[in-house]
Amino acid sequence: MDLGIKGKWALVCGASKGLGLGCAQALAAEGVNLLIVARGAEALEQSAMNLRAAYADKTGAEVLFCAQDITTVAGREAVFAMRADFDIVVTNAGGPPPGDFRDWDREAWIKAVDANMLTPIELIKATVDGMAARGFGRIVNITSSAVKSPIDILGLSNGARSGLTGFVAGVARSSLAAKGVTINNLLPGKFDTDRIAATVKATSAKTGQSVEDIRRLQQAQIPVGRYGTPAEFGQVCAFLCSQQAGYMTGQNVLVDGGAFGGTF
Ligand code: NAD
Repeated sequence: MDLGIKGKWALVCGASKGLGLGCAQALAAEGVNLLIVARGAEALEQSAMNLRAAYADKTGAEVLFCAQDITTVAGREAVFAMRADFDIVVTNAGGPPPGDFRDWDREAWIKAVDANMLTPIELIKATVDGMAARGFGRIVNITSSAVKSPIDILGLSNGARSGLTGFVAGVARSSLAAKGVTINNLLPGKFDTDRIAATVKATSAKTGQSVEDIRRLQQAQIPVGRYGTPAEFGQVCAFLCSQQAGYMTGQNVLVDGGAFGGTF
């Protein structure tokens, strides 16, 4: 299916690896021009070169990269200095660390809220009016299944992302909607990335179970029987960015292999 977004410009954050890279790959396959962001310059440049070789060289699209911390004002300024107008924005940054809420002080909470709530809001603020003026825009926020079904050791994530979810529910239904701008959240369940490796390691340290046992048990609890892949996640992201998804806004789209047990 042609998603009708060839030649559009996308900003994809947290895109040197994992779910962000999966989204960048799926958009690149559609001929979307990319500006990808992550903190580590070396890995990011390598990802940009791979995206060019695998997709952009064939579609004629551009792939730019900007090694910055997207959660800082300076980082966002550097990104928007490279390019101001985007048709598609995928917001994403590393998730907060797991732990016990008794150990989190104000600084830990501010960091989590900054990264997983205020940064996406700043990115939305910086881009949606331009999208509305041009009559097309797609914002996809990578959040977490923890918004629907909280995970005890990920309290910082549960809390900060719920704030973003509430904000998005309102802004997606604002006057932007009639101007072709959709804003949706994409909620990963368990995907096989470095992030899941870190949370499994933390669970192992807390419970004494081996990493292998935890991975096996976690995958057995998912109806599909395995972790998801970044490529699968990216495909859903690309669909949300498509022309075809123009009537979907303000939604929380769960991609979790059936793990969430509710009817809705
Ligand atoms: P990952 O650790 O594999 O990749 C994160 C990417 O974001 C990397 O490219 C990293 O360089 C970049 N990044 C991190 N902090 C950044 C910052 N401040 N500025 C710019 N770039 C930054 O993680 P992932 O598994 O791809 O997860 C992506 C998001 O989805 C995270 O917020 C994570 O908490 C969330 N999530 C992941 C899962 C999962 O199963 N993998 C489940 C639920 C939620």
